[in-house]
Amino acid sequence: MALIVQKYGGSSVADTESIKRVAKRVVETEKKGNKVAVVVSAMGDTTDDLIDQALSIDSNPPEREMDMLMTAGERISMSLLAMAIHAEGSRAHSFTGQQAGFFTDARYGAAHIKAVRPDRVKNALSLGDIAIVAGFQGINAKGDATTLGRGGSDTSAVALAVALGADICEIYTDVDGIFTADPRIVPSARRIPSIDYESILEMASCGSKVLALRCVEYAQRFNMPLHVRSSFSRRPGTLVVPDGIDPRTLPNLD
Ligand code: ASP
Ligand code: MG
Repeated sequence: MALIVQKYGGSSVADTESIKRVAKRVVETEKKGNKVAVVVSAMGDTTDDLIDQALSIDSNPPEREMDMLMTAGERISMSLLAMAIHAEGSRAHSFTGQQAGFFTDARYGAAHIKAVRPDRVKNALSLGDIAIVAGFQGINAKGDATTLGRGGSDTSAVALAVALGADICEIYTDVDGIFTADPRIVPSARRIPSIDYESILEMASCGSKVLALRCVEYAQRFNMPLHVRSSFSRRPGTLVVPDGIDPRTLPNLD
């Protein structure tokens, strides 16, 4: 049995139909005999919409309130996904960044993770439940909500995977992994089946559109294997693995 962290980005949970589709995929992974923790982003353009709303009130809103507002996006997707998993007949519990034990520094809008103590997530998994965690958020020493910076859910997912000792962190997006160039611009671009952390950090320009670089650095520091793949297809994606690990030994590759 493997312990798998799956992260679904905003385009994968853009509407309730998409959330139902993701729920099916999560349950399928569980039914194969794995323990599954899921990190979600806010639905579609929710985060941008929240920022627009704030700016229409105040061009320079208080940063504490801004982070409070932005953490709302991921609460919506995490609870809807938990409901959709229930509707599929499995048990799921959603957790905010605070409930999942994400402790950060005090930099609102660009907080850094100081520690992850996911006791409640571990407990849910040990009871056989699926744990859903809000990406992109944590709390500072005062107990106030913080956000990790745009695209921060990738980093949340890797940090959770490390704290749980997961076997792999799967990053689900709307493209089939990382390509040698942007396939929308360069038709001859090829998918990279497997790559090491260093090389991906070097190809920042094409890799970073798919994966937040901070998340790659975090994964490299803790040797956490990543699988970047599409939630819209069944095709294999890109494996980002430490040197010396045979990618074929990783779980849930089909
Ligand atoms: N919802 C946040 C954003 O749009 C975090 C994320 O998607 O990773 O930046
Ligand atoms: Mg987003």
